[in-house]
Amino acid sequence: MKWNEVRCPIIKKMKIYNSMNRQLEDFVPLNPEQVSIYSCGPTVYDYIHMGNARTALVTDIIRRYLVYRGYNVKLVQNLTDIDDKIIGRAAELGVSAKQLAHQNGEAFFEDSQRLGIQPADVAPKATEHIPEMISLIQTLLDKGAAYVIDGSVYYRVNQFAEYGKLSGRKPEDLLAGARVEVDERKEDPRDFDMWKAAKPGEPSWESPWGRGRPGWHIECSAMAMKHLGETIDIHAGGEDLQFPHHENEIAQSELATGCTFARYWIHVAFLKIDGRRMGKSEQNFILLRDALDNYPTEVVRHFLISAHYRHPLDYNQESLAKSEGALRRLNNCLDALKKYDGQFEANGTGGAALQDAIQTMKSQFITAMDTDFNTAQALGAIFTLVSEVNRSLSVSDEADAPALAQAYQALTESCQVLGIYGADVERSDEGDVEQRDQLVNLLLEIRQDARSRKDWDTSDKIRDRLKELNIEIQDTREGATWKIVS
Ligand code: AMP
Ligand code: ZN
Repeated sequence: MKWNEVRCPIIKKMKIYNSMNRQLEDFVPLNPEQVSIYSCGPTVYDYIHMGNARTALVTDIIRRYLVYRGYNVKLVQNLTDIDDKIIGRAAELGVSAKQLAHQNGEAFFEDSQRLGIQPADVAPKATEHIPEMISLIQTLLDKGAAYVIDGSVYYRVNQFAEYGKLSGRKPEDLLAGARVEVDERKEDPRDFDMWKAAKPGEPSWESPWGRGRPGWHIECSAMAMKHLGETIDIHAGGEDLQFPHHENEIAQSELATGCTFARYWIHVAFLKIDGRRMGKSEQNFILLRDALDNYPTEVVRHFLISAHYRHPLDYNQESLAKSEGALRRLNNCLDALKKYDGQFEANGTGGAALQDAIQTMKSQFITAMDTDFNTAQALGAIFTLVSEVNRSLSVSDEADAPALAQAYQALTESCQVLGIYGADVERSDEGDVEQRDQLVNLLLEIRQDARSRKDWDTSDKIRDRLKELNIEIQDTREGATWKIVS
């Protein structure tokens, strides 16, 4: 499915809030043929929680929308499969770091798929890119932007004049922050390690500086550049990554290449719980897989995109229940509309008003998504049309089949971009809905037989009993139809 100028004739440029410049900017990809996106993925020492899922889902929505808009997209999302937390957790569990990272990496793919997240084009693992990292570190050493102490290699921050440009932190703030983790061996407290000398019992790799393992920031610089080139269009991650992770990625990459590393920086605000950031270290997290055991995929997606990605979102049962209600309304509406799909003959008088409402929804949806992927407003446009459709369906002679067919098309198309209808995962209730439809149609057939025998008692009984179950039958000249009423 692609955005199409005939269908949606809005030829304005999309706008993205670039956290580098702290403003909305026109989105102009470097290569008009292909947008490159790098998104910082999880550190695989555990299952992912709903906070991680929010950031991953925002990337998925950005990618889906760009594709809808007609772009080709290459998305790279890394897995950090070696780090202190992985080593620590593996030791607690008595398994190797490699084994733990592998298991949790697989679990991450499984959970992402259950959330309807389309797989990244490349999902590089840090441990599979050690030569690229060593080569990047060597380049920085050759340029005098790094130094070696006891087998560890540090980045020399004072060699990068623009250090702090992403986070907006001034050198004095950076110094104050960096002093928290004092390492007397560093030339400057702001310097950070790109290569860590091996410690006994920890996984390590050969390098020109002795055995060791990479630091976190060098991973993303090396993997982004390997898979997407020296300059990428969009770099995404949670807001916690802006400093120091992304600041350090920029320092390493830009000093090594002399090119802009990423042209648009997108930072996703935190998912919170009881007003605090949801996080592993906070011990207040809800695992994505547990949420998906309790709610259908589309409900969890709806909840996670119910706020614009730059606004914090609170996890609570009420919000999920609201999303569940919204999805029920949407699905009921689409179920009722489905039978009009492909109908072109006008039989009512309400077509014009509904067609206006459809055009309004389309243009509001595109404007919302074009303006920094505002999913909250896009959902608002969809649900306004749902109300219009329901109104139109409840006044039977106003319901115009071609307009209803168009409403079905417009709604399913927009919902598919957001992945809240017919996501690429099995819907737990899909079989139930199909079976219900078959049973109601069977009852309608039996009722029709009764009517042709002039058995009005049976006919009325079927109609009245179905009404009690919120299924309303309408007798039209073409035969009986039915719809779900709330
Ligand atoms: P981690 O596994 O902690 O490296 O996180 C993986 C991704 O999830 C990163 O992009 C984080 O910024 C993001 N993330 C972590 N916690 C949250 C949260 N509470 N809300 C939104 N994004 C988060
Ligand atoms: Zn990263």
